[in-house]
Amino acid sequence: QLAGKRAIVTGSNSGIGLGVARELARAGADVVINSFTDTSDDHRIAADIASETGVTVTYIQADMSKADDCRALIEKAGGCDILVNNAGIQHVARIEEFPADKWDAIIAINLSSSFHTTAAALPGMYAKGWGRVINIASAHGLTASPYKSAYIAAKHGVVGLSKTTALEAAGKGVTCNAICPGYVLTPIVEKQIPDQMKTHNMDRETVIREVMLSRQPSGEFATVEQIGGTTVFLCSDAAAQITGTTISVDGGWTAL
Ligand code: NAD
Repeated sequence: QLAGKRAIVTGSNSGIGLGVARELARAGADVVINSFTDTSDDHRIAADIASETGVTVTYIQADMSKADDCRALIEKAGGCDILVNNAGIQHVARIEEFPADKWDAIIAINLSSSFHTTAAALPGMYAKGWGRVINIASAHGLTASPYKSAYIAAKHGVVGLSKTTALEAAGKGVTCNAICPGYVLTPIVEKQIPDQMKTHNMDRETVIREVMLSRQPSGEFATVEQIGGTTVFLCSDAAAQITGTTISVDGGWTAL
């Protein structure tokens, strides 16, 4: 289905990015895996997906908090047909106590990186007359919760950037959309549980049930395979006229 296409997935040595990379590879795309580290594990992840699927999978180190690294990732990969902006971090604190350096890092990694990679990738997509830019936003790109000011500001920004990208790319065979997952049980969510336990003065199970999944009417976490499947769908011909919009994979969160 995606044979001959090259996909770059930022922040893909773990969690949703890894799930998306795997589903794109299973659909036949060659895939570039990325994170800010450069370990033997990172390269093993790429080799494992390659041997599972038979496509070419490479690992390229680039720090998505740095504009130059974002642009260099696209160049080192030789451009891409499919760009999935997924790298993201989280910090949970009241605004009055929110460290300024955490604010800056979250805006850089969760929002600005998508601008830089998109800017570097679009010319190649326009030249081919085909491209897909898929930004992993969040239900928190459409709604808010307390204590996540930087993340929510960044994710709302990603939704806005996706719409502008779509308008500029319209008529050139290039679409841009944002996927808005609800809670997916990945390391970023695991790491929030202790903070949420402290902030809400609750035990782990109560935080999962009453803080996290209380917003998700299905009562279930979404899975990385489901986010990957949605990404593959957005790359299909059926999705060629879907652009400038959001697709929620949130168990009903944003319907409440
Ligand atoms: P995760 O922590 O498992 O993955 C984050 C990825 O980003 C990792 O691969 C990490 O190496 C990478 N990363 C972090 N800083 C980076 C940097 N400076 N440069 C390059 N890569 C960097 O978390 P996840 O849940 O898989 O999150 C992936 C994306 O999905 C994030 O944008 C997150 O906001 C979004 N999201 C997650 C959920 C959820 O419930 N898990 C819900 C909605 C949206």
